[in-house]
Amino acid sequence: MKKLNLGFDFDGVFTDCSKLKSYAARTLYNKEIPPEQCNWQHIVNGGILTAEQYRELQRQIYGERAFVSRTEAVPGAISYAQRFQQAGHNVKIVTARTDEWAYLAREWLLERGAHIPLTATRRRDKTEACKGLDLFVDDDLDKLIPLIGTVKHLYLFSWPCNQNTPLPREIQRVRSWYDIHTTIGVLSALGYSYPLI
Ligand SMILES: [Mg+2]
Repeated sequence: MKKLNLGFDFDGVFTDCSKLKSYAARTLYNKEIPPEQCNWQHIVNGGILTAEQYRELQRQIYGERAFVSRTEAVPGAISYAQRFQQAGHNVKIVTARTDEWAYLAREWLLERGAHIPLTATRRRDKTEACKGLDLFVDDDLDKLIPLIGTVKHLYLFSWPCNQNTPLPREIQRVRSWYDIHTTIGVLSALGYSYPLI
């Protein structure tokens, strides 16, 4: 069996950031914003919060334990990642979080029984950290584009806020962790071996 090197973003791939942002907007600013509209474009460009308020909201959801502990996993994230590990693949998380916020992400994973190495690029480009990966999944197109040419199989994790974003031909969409699992099956058919569990 050929082992695959699988890489995943953390926020928005393992965690449901939209729900958390919606909760934080209500708690911190008394604003009702549906999760599917919880992005910079809608909130800041739409004049609901100032840029400074939005940054403070981000600081709190990633850096304050009260919010981190309320962070929900994307359905299937932990169990599929564990299945990939059990099947012999290397699973790694590459996040643009700072070291301080990465520490809380590692804690969050361990609390859920997920033993997955996590590299923090401290708001920088992910290219160096993603060298050697066969596949990478991110919910942010701006993080995927620099990886073209470094990682062969690139996937945008779809959310309502990015569903209409046009993609370059090197990047495909996945809509769920089940989709990711299926995609790995397809890679197997293309010559990568993957045990069907
Ligand atoms: Mg993300």
